[in-house]
Amino acid sequence: MSEKARILIVEDEVAIRTGLIDVLTYHGFATAFAQEGPEGLRMALSGDYDLVLLDVMLPGMDGFAICQRIRQQLPDQPVIMLTAKTDDEDIVQGLSLGADDYVAKPFSVTQLVLRVRAVLRRTRPAEPADPCIRLRDGLVLDTLNLSGVRDDETIQFTRREMAVLRYLHAHRERPVPREELLSKVWGYANELAIETRTVDIHIAKLRRKIEPDPKSPRLLLTVRGAGYRLVAD
Ligand code: CA
Repeated sequence: MSEKARILIVEDEVAIRTGLIDVLTYHGFATAFAQEGPEGLRMALSGDYDLVLLDVMLPGMDGFAICQRIRQQLPDQPVIMLTAKTDDEDIVQGLSLGADDYVAKPFSVTQLVLRVRAVLRRTRPAEPADPCIRLRDGLVLDTLNLSGVRDDETIQFTRREMAVLRYLHAHRERPVPREELLSKVWGYANELAIETRTVDIHIAKLRRKIEPDPKSPRLLLTVRGAGYRLVAD
């Protein structure tokens, strides 16, 4: 994955924000920023960022509330909180709301970059060299060629269908909510009230392609109230 990691900076203080942008750009990251809470939340929920650097004290909505909302909708979104001081309560609250880490202001540039790299290493693993995904019942997907093989049968997928399968496979240890698929695979920034039916239609199409019996799925499961889960080999 040679593409630059994208970092969203949500910080209202100009000097700190500008400093962060300069430092992160210098270290090879792509940055975007928001200056106040609601804008930061909206951008974060787009799912477009590999990491969100989130200040606590922000106009409109504080960093804790934002972190909580991000967690509800994008459980895997990496977040580092920028706490105003070495205030233990801030840190504990931030981490209990699901932040991956925190950096206390004033922070050293070296420390910040180290923390950012560490969180990205944990959460943004390099793409596997093997483009194949092995699923239950002997189905092998070739993610590059958008195809699958089982016994002597070859199955063709659209780019979107394969993207859905890849995302579900990357998170196969848990069910993935439809809203998360819409955000991560379709790139829809909407928060709610979006067409989750779009996801259901694609899942139904995928089942017709990969399930021996689409009416009783064995590979692409529905977990009631939680989302869809893909069963690997
Ligand atoms: Ca602030």
